[in-house]
Formats: sequence, C-alpha cells, structure tokens
Amino acid sequence: MRFASIGSGSRGNGTVVQAGDSLLLVDCGFALKETEARLAKLGVAPQQLRAILVTHEHGDHCSGVRVLANRYRLPVYMTAGTARAKPLAAVECPIIIDSHAPFVIDDVCIQPVAVPHDAAEPVQFVFDWSGRRLGVLTDLGAITPFVKSHYCACDALLLESNHCVDMLARGDYPSSLKLRVGGRFGHLSNAQAADLLEEVDAARLQHLVIAHLSEKNNTLERVQQSLADVLQKMRNVLFACQEEGFGWLTIS
Ligand SMILES: [Zn+2]
Ligand SMILES: [Zn+2]
Repeated sequence: MRFASIGSGSRGNGTVVQAGDSLLLVDCGFALKETEARLAKLGVAPQQLRAILVTHEHGDHCSGVRVLANRYRLPVYMTAGTARAKPLAAVECPIIIDSHAPFVIDDVCIQPVAVPHDAAEPVQFVFDWSGRRLGVLTDLGAITPFVKSHYCACDALLLESNHCVDMLARGDYPSSLKLRVGGRFGHLSNAQAADLLEEVDAARLQHLVIAHLSEKNNTLERVQQSLADVLQKMRNVLFACQEEGFGWLTIS
C-alpha cells in the first residue's frame, strides 16, 4: 500500500492511495489540466484511477471532481449531504455512502469518519488493506473521542495542522473568518494536532505527513515547535505542500 499527494492546502487538495492494483483519489481541488499534470508527476494516468472519494464539498476538495470524474467515467463516493452540493450535482456516477458505515472498493476497506467541520455532511477516511491502515484526517475543528478512536492505530497518517492560534489571532483575517477557522467546525490548530499525536500509537506509525497548512496563519517553524515533543518519537515525518504535495510513501 502506498500514498501520495497532488497538493495540500486551502488552494487545492488531492491524495492518491494505491492498495494492490486499486488506485483511489481522495478529493480533487484542481482544474482538469492541472490535475492531469500533477497526477502525471506521480506516474498516474487518470484512466488508471478506480474511483474518487470526496470528503466534503468545499472548493479546495471538490472543485475538480465533476469534470475529472465525468471525463474519465469514474465513480464518485460521497455522503448524501456532500452529493447535494452544487459543484457535485452533475457527477454522472455518484455512489452515496453512509457517513458511519465502512464500504469496500476492490479489496480495500474504507471507513468514513464523520468530523466536525462547517460542511453539509463531512467525513474523512481510514483505509484498510492487507493488514495495513492509512488514516487521512484534515478539515476538522475538533478531535472528538469518535475521531480519536478511528485514528489511534494507523500505520501511516496524513494529519492536518492548519494554523498557529497566535498567528491566526494576530493576522489580518476578518474576525468572522478567524472564528470560523479557529472554531469547533473549522480547522485543526498545531496544538490540536499535537494533542491527537500524543494519543496515537507512535511506534506503529511508519509515516506521518503534516498537511493542510495555512499559508497565512502558519509556518513550518511554528508547526515544528508545537509538535516537537511528538515529532521526536516519530520515524518519518513529512510536510505536505500546496504546490508539490508529496511523492509516494510506501506502507510495508
Ligand atoms: Zn480544506
Ligand atoms: Zn473544508
């Protein structure tokens, strides 16, 4: 099993998961040409994708989904709430998932995990394949006990560490946006990401990817400071970036 990213952040997201012969794309927040070029960098042709999974309807996760899916006749797995959003309404092959029920694509078992985020019916995903477990967790404002229970025993984890609370407070966002981003239905702060990492089985994690970093309200240094205690226990830590995402990481 391996995973990679075509970009991570508020200007577009996309995570590619390969388990055996199955290639899945989680979210697509880029225009078609851009997506094709970014996938090509990973050696992936869109025709090879088995499906697209959508976490929620925010533009940085879904703006490219409809065109890509319809162009290459890909099924799109999403919750009923997500599917109702305008940008996804014209998807030709939607497959509605229950936000709490695991589903299977080929031989990959996928557990949707409902998260507190300001979207209609947002979920994140945990992938199980052949004894390996990958967690993808971004776009949530709080770590609920429910979320924690699903992500504590992963072999690899892609985790949001969106903002530094001080930078957000002192930055130039209007106060309504500050409240949204920092609120219970917004995004994870560095401190919240650190809290979750304290709870996970660090010895089991082969890869930790810190993702969805805010370009305005965070810096690499701030993340490293906040996560210093936990990062020193982790073997392989990577920071996903908006422009490049990150290359393939193999879970053995
Ligand atoms: Zn997002
Ligand atoms: Zn979002």
